[in-house]
Amino acid sequence: MKAKIFLIMRIALFGPPGVGKGTQAHLLSERRGLRHISTGVMLRQAMAEGTPLGREAASYVNDGKLVPGEVVRKLAEAAIAETGYDDFVLDGYPRTVEQAGWLNEFLEAHKAPLHAVISIVVPDEVIVDRLSKRRVDRVTGENYHLDFKPPPPDLDPDRIFQRPDDRPEAIRKRLEVYRAETLPVEEIYEKCGKLYRVDGVGTMEEVYRRIEAVLEKVSGPVESGRVRP
Ligand code: AMP
Repeated sequence: MKAKIFLIMRIALFGPPGVGKGTQAHLLSERRGLRHISTGVMLRQAMAEGTPLGREAASYVNDGKLVPGEVVRKLAEAAIAETGYDDFVLDGYPRTVEQAGWLNEFLEAHKAPLHAVISIVVPDEVIVDRLSKRRVDRVTGENYHLDFKPPPPDLDPDRIFQRPDDRPEAIRKRLEVYRAETLPVEEIYEKCGKLYRVDGVGTMEEVYRRIEAVLEKVSGPVESGRVRP
C-alpha cells in the first residue's frame, strides 16, 4: 500500500486558552510533518532561559495578559521564515486584529497565504476545568491533565509544574482577553472563507479526526509525490 503523502499546508489553530490547540498542533506536527509554531512556547522558553525578551514578557504572561505585539511578531515571522513559508501550524498567533494584519502582509509578501484557520470550540466550564487541572513537564514541555492524562508515576515530580497563568485569576483574565482581542480575528478569516469551526469536546483523537476532515476538504491527501495546492 502506498504511503499517504499530504499536500503542503499552512494553517492556524484558533480558540480560547485550554481548547487543546497545543495538543492538536503537536499531533499535526507528528502526523503531517507540520512545524508547530507556538508563540506561547517560545515566550516560556525565553522566560526559562532568562533572556532579555523573556524578562520583558514574564509579567504579561504570568498575569494572563498579551505581551506587546512587536515581540511576538518577530518570533512568529522568524519561525515561519525558517520553514521556508510552508508546512506549518500556527498556535497562538495571530491573537489580535493588528497581528492578523501583520501576518497577512508577511505571508502575502512571500506568496504563502494560509490555507485554513481552524477554530476549536469548547464551552467555558470545560476550559476552566482543563486549565486548572493542567500540569506541564518543565523538561519536555509535555502537557498533562490530572484526571484524563496524569503524569506517569515514574516521572520525577519536581519536573511537573502548574503554569502561573493556569491559576483561576489568570484563567479569567485570559478568557476576557480572548473575547475582547482575539475573537474579532475570527471574523476576518470568516469573511474571506478560510475559517472552519470544529467541536473541541471529546478525546484528543476525536478532535484530531475532525481537524483532519477539514484539512482533507481543503487539500485532500495524495498518493504520491509532494505537490503544492
Ligand atoms: P499560550 O501558550 O498560547 O496560551 O500563550 C501563553 C501566553 O503567552 C499568553 O497568555 C500571552 O501572555 C503570551 N502570548 C502568546 N502568544 C501571544 C500573542 N500572539 N500575542 C500576545 N501575547 C501572546
